[in-house]
Amino acid sequence: MTRTASLRVSALAKSSKRIELQCTYCDWIGSYEQPVNACPQCGESILRARYDLAALKRSGWVDKVIAREPGLWRYHELLPLYDTQNIVTMGEGGTPLLHARNLGMMLGLKHLYIKDERQGPTASFKDRQASVAISVMRERGIREAVVASTGNVAIAYSAFAARAGIKLWAFLTSMVPGEKMREAALYGGEVIKVTGTYDHTKVVANAFAKQRGLYVDRGIKSIAAVESMKTMAFEIAQQLGWRAPDWFIQAVSGGMGPIGVAKGFEELMELGLADKIPSLGVIQSAGCAPMVRAFKNGRAVATPVENPQTVIATLSTGDPGRAYEQLNNLISAHGGTMEEATDEEAFNALRLLARTEGLSVEPATAVAFAGLIKLARRGIIKSDQLVIVNCSGHTFPVEKQILGDQFARSVDVSAQSSRISLPAEGLLAAIEQMETTARRVVVIEDNADAGRLIERILKVRGDYEVHLANGGAEGVVLVERLKPDVVITDLMMPDIDGFSVIDALKADPSTAHIPIIVLTAKELTAHERVRLNGQIEQLLQKGSFMDEDLLQSIVKALG
Ligand SMILES: *Cc1c(COP(=O)(O)O)cnc(C)c1O
Ligand SMILES: [Zn+2]
Repeated sequence: MTRTASLRVSALAKSSKRIELQCTYCDWIGSYEQPVNACPQCGESILRARYDLAALKRSGWVDKVIAREPGLWRYHELLPLYDTQNIVTMGEGGTPLLHARNLGMMLGLKHLYIKDERQGPTASFKDRQASVAISVMRERGIREAVVASTGNVAIAYSAFAARAGIKLWAFLTSMVPGEKMREAALYGGEVIKVTGTYDHTKVVANAFAKQRGLYVDRGIKSIAAVESMKTMAFEIAQQLGWRAPDWFIQAVSGGMGPIGVAKGFEELMELGLADKIPSLGVIQSAGCAPMVRAFKNGRAVATPVENPQTVIATLSTGDPGRAYEQLNNLISAHGGTMEEATDEEAFNALRLLARTEGLSVEPATAVAFAGLIKLARRGIIKSDQLVIVNCSGHTFPVEKQILGDQFARSVDVSAQSSRISLPAEGLLAAIEQMETTARRVVVIEDNADAGRLIERILKVRGDYEVHLANGGAEGVVLVERLKPDVVITDLMMPDIDGFSVIDALKADPSTAHIPIIVLTAKELTAHERVRLNGQIEQLLQKGSFMDEDLLQSIVKALG
């Protein structure tokens, strides 16, 4: 069991606020002043906060809220903090609700709105969670904390922790793009890269916290997380003139967003500020869709996905636990559905959204839009319904030059077991080692999108240090300088083509031994095949481009 710091006496003395903790499984009710990690009566680990809504309604709360500046903390009476002096804020929340006329027209939806959560301090809706969670840590006197993340939580928590002077250990799955890790590190978070899935990463983070006696953020199981997500419902209702939309659609990993939003609308109903809970559109990445699979098969419990097959790390929760049950119950009661989208569908939706609405989103967010497109085309969403999509995040890479390559420590658990329950001893040994054994790869590719995709595919499965060269000439220079373990090259490039790159590398004794993988969309002539014969390790056709194939070839080329 992890340590929970007790509330500072000063905060309690000042506050007249009453917050109760309620078990989501049995009838147990306790006080939030003495938080527990599980229900003392039945052991359930998901607890809910309850406020005195009737008293709030009598106090004319809604008028006070309207008079305040926009932002998440304008609803502070319904957030799990006793003293507003403990608030750690950077202007999170208060994001615009954009009418998506063009995309709506294409999909035949008259009332399509986008909640633009990219406009937060670290550009994702995790800013809400970070602001509330870090404020609660401050109120409880916590000076050092551990968090496991698929990327955006690490970034948002690191930023808010920096403001609060809290030391943060952020454990990230190695699937997370390097840019995200760098951003978390830039804010001073201690970034630990775990070569394994997100579910492995949580196990490692918990073991580390336990070993050091540190507070560990419990993600979806923490009160602060779900409560913070509620504020999206409050804002949406207020922006619509105090009513609920017909649909709330989001790309889901652990499911915290829609669970929080549904709770928000429940509270608004009790306050007389909304008339219903919206139908939920829960969209998952097809390579990691345990909830969608269970939903489509009519199951009450989701079977965990042990090895997510998606490059979209943000959505890689393989084991949703009881969050699936909660979402399934909400959909049974209030309508909605669960749907999946492939990475390809997500990347297509990403381009469509950018071109039609001018919004550049991260791939995880595009999954929501890919799902929206499916639901609209199938008529599951009706043309006159009011639809909100959570535009959950946008990332822009930080300058690589700011931090060198030593911004993270590494823990490799992949060799020990692919099971989620890892042996504790191996884990601790791995934590103690925390060293990197990255293999260096140079990718020569004039199409920047394709280059980045290859980089991501490599990083999903292992500790690869990937360097991109934009064209043949740059590629040859980079290989000469870095002497990588393997080279991946395109054939068709405007400056120096792949054949000449291969010739140049084979002619130089210092690079002749480096294995080369050719990745091309070109149909090779017999003559060209002869030219490549004996020169390269493997030829991969881009059309049938599969991440497994690419990975196997690289592993093979590395010997
Ligand atoms: C965390 C995250 C999600 C998934 O959110 P959950 O509600 O926790 O499942 C989706 N998109 C982005 C950009 C995220 O950061
Ligand atoms: Zn209980």
